[in-house]
Amino acid sequence: MKHIFPTYQQFPMELVSGHDWHLVDNDGKDYLDFTSGIGVCSFGYSNELIQQNVVEQLGKVWHTSNLYPSQLQDDVAEMVTPERMLAFFCNSGTEANEAAFKLARKYTGKAKILAFKNGFHGRTYGSMSLTGNPDIQAGFAPLVPGIDFASYNDFSSIDQMTSDYAAVILEIVQGEGGVVPGDSHWLKAVSQKCHELGILMIVDEVQTGIGRTGTKFAYEQFDVDPDIVTCAKALGNGLPIGAMLGKKKLASAFAPGSHGTTFGGNKIALSSAKGVLQQLTPDFLKIVQVKSQVVFDALEKALRPLSIVKDISGLGLMIGIHLTGNVKVGDVIADLQQQGILTLSAEHNTLRLLPPLVMSEHDLLAGVNLIQNELQKQAVLEKSPIDQL
Ligand SMILES: *Cc1c(COP(=O)(O)O)cnc(C)c1O
Repeated sequence: MKHIFPTYQQFPMELVSGHDWHLVDNDGKDYLDFTSGIGVCSFGYSNELIQQNVVEQLGKVWHTSNLYPSQLQDDVAEMVTPERMLAFFCNSGTEANEAAFKLARKYTGKAKILAFKNGFHGRTYGSMSLTGNPDIQAGFAPLVPGIDFASYNDFSSIDQMTSDYAAVILEIVQGEGGVVPGDSHWLKAVSQKCHELGILMIVDEVQTGIGRTGTKFAYEQFDVDPDIVTCAKALGNGLPIGAMLGKKKLASAFAPGSHGTTFGGNKIALSSAKGVLQQLTPDFLKIVQVKSQVVFDALEKALRPLSIVKDISGLGLMIGIHLTGNVKVGDVIADLQQQGILTLSAEHNTLRLLPPLVMSEHDLLAGVNLIQNELQKQAVLEKSPIDQL
């Protein structure tokens, strides 16, 4: 791309169309999609209800400012927010986290935020400053002050929490950090300590939310009580929308004039989100849980014996395959593309799978099979380096 800042190392093909859970490139090659964008298109590429909602809204009005009330906003808010919470709509995950950061400081009157190493919260100044990955922050100093980092899943972090903190922010499963699930006892202890000390608990569900882990939000599977929940990625199935959801008691700090957005909560993105949430029913989520069990069973059987596989982790259809240092995840992804399957990476040489939640069991298992063949090939190469010459 000659006219685009090179912020992304891009693959050679463009994906020009999609159907169900497949994508087609500019050569007409068809791929089984185990990425959903990056955890975005959970309902795939030809979902009728979502398309119908968006097309209908396109024929009405695309945008009114937030100076006018929107019934659609209120309806989608009711569908997405947990009990006793309110919603603020924005356009992305990083913006949802910015809103959470601002609300936490304003409501508590305190400045300090505790975040976790190996976490990811976005690329704008606040969210980047909360991101526990020095590579992502490199060159952008000075960062937003008042942020400390503790170790994820480490009980000594609990001792770092004091009443000086406005909030703690964490992911239930660290996504970019390598698909690292939170330990249930540790998450419970963090939540308890937050409530003991009057620290707000912010759960970043930008990647884990909207059904990805088998429940609407991943935190529902744990004994935690977040004050603020952020989501984005899958909320619009590809149209840009994010949301910051917070307990009603916080509303006093977000009075008129305190925070805002031009595009956030626009009717086109909301019409798509409505279609997503209409289909994110308890029955649908149960099917995701069954698919997850089938896939993890198959992965354990197919991959666990391989010397190059260190670990298999995840929750729901958020899956990490942790490779040893002898194999480069980038090479695996490129080979798999040749085989007609799209996959992702995450930190620490992790092959990350985020298939559309609607993918059939048959195709989920076909994907596992392709990955097994590829990793078997890599394992053989690794054992006999002479073959590589
Ligand atoms: C992707 C992601 C973000 C950032 O979302 P954007 O829409 O890219 O701004 C924030 N937090 C988590 C956990 C994410 O996975």
